[in-house]
Amino acid sequence: MHQYDERADELVRSLMELCQERLQMAAPLDFSRSPADLLEECGQTITPDGLGPRVADMWADVLAPACLSVDHPRYLSFIPGAPTKAAAGFDMLVGASSVYAGTWLEGSGTVFAENQALRWVADLAGLPPEAGGVFVQGGTIGNLSALVAARSAAQHRRGSRPPRWAVLLTDETHSSVKHALESVMDVDVVLLPGDDRGRLTGETVRGWVAEATPEQRDAVFAVVGTAGTTNLGVVDDLAGIADVAEEQGWWFHVDGAYGGAGLVVPDLRGLYDGIERADSFIVDPHKWLFAPYDCCALLYRDPVLARAAHTQRAGYLDPVTIEGEWNPSDFAIQLTRRARGLPFWFSLAVHGTEAYRRAVEQTLEVTRAGRDLIDRADHLRLLVEPDLSVLIFERIGWEAEDYAAWSERLLRDQVGFVTPTKHRGRTCTRFAIVNPLTTVEDLADIVESMR
Ligand SMILES: *Cc1c(COP(=O)(O)O)cnc(C)c1O
Repeated sequence: MHQYDERADELVRSLMELCQERLQMAAPLDFSRSPADLLEECGQTITPDGLGPRVADMWADVLAPACLSVDHPRYLSFIPGAPTKAAAGFDMLVGASSVYAGTWLEGSGTVFAENQALRWVADLAGLPPEAGGVFVQGGTIGNLSALVAARSAAQHRRGSRPPRWAVLLTDETHSSVKHALESVMDVDVVLLPGDDRGRLTGETVRGWVAEATPEQRDAVFAVVGTAGTTNLGVVDDLAGIADVAEEQGWWFHVDGAYGGAGLVVPDLRGLYDGIERADSFIVDPHKWLFAPYDCCALLYRDPVLARAAHTQRAGYLDPVTIEGEWNPSDFAIQLTRRARGLPFWFSLAVHGTEAYRRAVEQTLEVTRAGRDLIDRADHLRLLVEPDLSVLIFERIGWEAEDYAAWSERLLRDQVGFVTPTKHRGRTCTRFAIVNPLTTVEDLADIVESMR
C-alpha cells in the first residue's frame, strides 16, 4: 500500500484530473440525498479487500453530487465560501506534503508563510506589532480558544476566581460563542439588548455596569463584540465597547468570523473603529476571504497570554517547546494541526492584497444593487439596513410554511440555495453574498421566484 506502485500513481493522476475538472467548471449546486438512496447506489464501501480505483468514480458520480457546493454563485444561505483556484489548488499540495504545522521545529517554512498572512490580517485590524496567533479550524474554535485565553489571563491577574465567571454578549452574537461559554467552559452568559439594528453599543454595556451588583460586575472577565453579525451583517459599536472594557479591565474579544473581511475595504474602515483595541480577534478566510475550508485566523494582542493558557506540557513535547520559537499549537485548543493557513497565504501572495480588496468590493456592490431590488419589489420588505453583504428581508404575507416550501422548491429546481431564518421571532429570509461571481441577475431571479 505504501511502497512504489504504478496503480497508485494512476489513482493519483485520476484524482488530480477530478480536482482539475472541478476547478475548471462552473460550481454545480446539487443537493442532498437520503441515506437509503446513497446506500443503494454505493453499497458497502468498506470491505476487507478494497474496491480499487472504482471508488474514485463512485465519489465523482454519486457522492460528490450529493453535496452542495458552497461556491455556487446562488448559494446564498448561512455564510457561503468562494475559494480562489489558487487557494483550492494549493490545498491539494498541503495534503500531499505531510507537514506537521504545530511547531517551528517541524514546519518553519509553513509557519513563516502562515505568519505573514496573519500579519496582514493584524495590520488590517490595526493590532500592534507583537500581535500574533494561529490559523484554527473555524470561528467556533477561534472564539473558544480566545475566551479560554481571556479567562486564564483574568485568573492570573486576579490571583483568584469569583464563584461564577461571566461574559457579556447579545442575542445577535454567534451561537458558537454561547456554546463555548455555556456548554464547554461552564461560564455564565449575560445577554444585553441590541439597538434597533441589533448592534451592541458601549452605552448599553455601560448601562449594565451601572445597574449590576458588585458580585455581578466581579464575575465578568470579557465582553464580545461582533464585526459583522451572521444573521444581520451589522457591526457592533466596537469603539464604545472597547472604552467600557478598558475602564472595567475586561478582555475585549471581537468576532469577525464573517465580517472581519470587510476591513480590506478602506471605505468601510470607519465601521470597525475600535477593533484595533481588541485583545483577541478572529476572521474566517473560508468565508469572505476566498480560502477553502477550514481556515480561521485567530489573533491575540498579547500572544504571551494565549501561550500561557494553551501550551501543552509533557516530557515528549519538551524537544519542541523551545523558548523563543513560534509554535502555532501553543495558541489554541489543538496540538497536531494541518497547515490550514497555507491555501489562504498562497492565494494572497499570488494575487496580491489589492485583488482581495476588489473581490470584496465586488460583493458589496452586488449587495447594494440587491438592496435596491428588494426596496423596489412590492412583495418584499428589507428588515435591517445592511452594513456589509447580508440582506435580511421578508415576503409580505408569508408564514413559516411558505418560506419552507419556496426554499425547498428553489433548491429542487436548482435555481438557488436560500434558506429561511428568523428575525425578532418572525420567519423571513436572507442573502449572504461573499462570492464575486454572484450577480445582480442571480438575485433578481430569486426575488422573482417569491412573487
Ligand atoms: C460563521 C461564524 C462563526 C463560526 O465559525 P465556524 O467557522 O463556522 O466555526 C462565528 N462567528 C460568526 C460571526 C460567524 O459568522
